[in-house]
Amino acid sequence: MVEYNQVTKEIVDELIVALGPYNVTIDYEKMEMYSHDETNIEHYAHMPEVVVTPESTEQVAMIMRIATKYVIPVTPRGAGSGLSGGAIPVYGGIVLSVERMNRILEIDKENLAVTSEAGVITNDLNEQLKKEGLFFAGYPMSLETCFLGGNIAENAGGGRAVKYGVTGRYVLALTVVTPSGEIIHLGGKVTKDVSGYDLKQLYIGSEGTLGIITEATIKLLGLPQAKSDLLVPFATAEQAISVVSLIMREGIIPTSIEFMDQASIEMSCEYLNESLPTDGVGAMLLIEIDGTDESTVESELLRVGQLCEDNGAIEVYIAEDFYTQERIWAVRRNIAEAIKIYSPIQSLEDIVVPIGSIAKVLPELERLSKAHHVKIVCYGHAGTGIFTQQ
Ligand SMILES: Cc1cc2nc3c(=O)[nH]c(=O)nc-3n(C[C@H](O)[C@H](O)[C@H](O)COP(=O)(O)OP(=O)(O)OC[C@H]3O[C@@H](n4cnc5c(N)ncnc54)[C@H](O)[C@@H]3O)c2cc1C
Repeated sequence: MVEYNQVTKEIVDELIVALGPYNVTIDYEKMEMYSHDETNIEHYAHMPEVVVTPESTEQVAMIMRIATKYVIPVTPRGAGSGLSGGAIPVYGGIVLSVERMNRILEIDKENLAVTSEAGVITNDLNEQLKKEGLFFAGYPMSLETCFLGGNIAENAGGGRAVKYGVTGRYVLALTVVTPSGEIIHLGGKVTKDVSGYDLKQLYIGSEGTLGIITEATIKLLGLPQAKSDLLVPFATAEQAISVVSLIMREGIIPTSIEFMDQASIEMSCEYLNESLPTDGVGAMLLIEIDGTDESTVESELLRVGQLCEDNGAIEVYIAEDFYTQERIWAVRRNIAEAIKIYSPIQSLEDIVVPIGSIAKVLPELERLSKAHHVKIVCYGHAGTGIFTQQ
């Protein structure tokens, strides 16, 4: 294993010459937020020795050359919303945050592509694209904070992955700085690109271990003209889960099928001062369908609603207007934060299982909960078999 060196004053001075004083910090208080991501701080946090915030690909290359020369570890960082600890500088050294590389460089409507720096917030990107009737479809649920580069490094994907897949499906090209400080351009604006190795695939999901993604070109889709949501309460979590695969087999591809157990609904509602009908409810599915026109969306929505009713749904609520949709999605989005308020001592774990195994997840969680005397709250992207336990 490589023995890393410590960051000395000489190295900090070299970084300051390369980046300017505002982009280099060794202040303990300022660096603290870079010592962790969204994993448990008590267990996993580790302080960096220096934090750098480059403003260009060239500056990133200079940092990597300095780090290589002095054998200093570098941990790339996006928004720090990761749940797998990848942005934690476990060996100390340099945290390289791309937060100042947040420019959208080109929206190419003709080629349905956007080129952006890695530090742009996912939601900001989609807000800009919306003005052009376009969107980047492969984003995760943390879109209000996470960066584009982080999404690529994690190959993230969220609620909409049922229909649209995850980030990797949309990456056309990348600019990457290698550990030794070389700048490489991979891919282009074409869908089929088979001249040579498709190295960009190697960087998608590489969690910052192979280099720093500084720019990305992302494939865009036309913004769906219509969308509607169903909120479907069931008496038991098992009933709710069993409907998921029935919906998928119906030949309809919803945009999302989200699962929330009773505890997660109640905690999130309390946190938001919101009220949803929860009497006798063991779990809910939140199902979204979008499409090019309202009549197609409506007919698919009715078919899914009927399927739920035929398979044990207590009620089927339709949220057609934006305000109601936002209210119920806010409940889903805020579960993790609500649980943190409910119990400061908690741990968040994501698991993913094949769709066919979804039904086995809940009994196993119940068994673990009883065996270890811990409360397990479960929610997640049921349509893709991704569940979060907290
Ligand atoms: C409330 C909540 C909801 C979430 N929902 C989802 C979800 O639905 N789906 C999902 O997949 N994830 C989800 N996540 C996890 C997380 O938000 C995503 O993985 C997100 O893509 C991470 O982006 P980030 O910018 O925060 O990256 P960070 O956490 O900063 O970094 C993540 C990893 O990427 C590396 N990295 C970051 N930027 C770069 C770069 N420019 N070049 C090279 N490597 C880099 C880091 O070293 C690290 O290994 C959720 C997290 C929270 C807190």
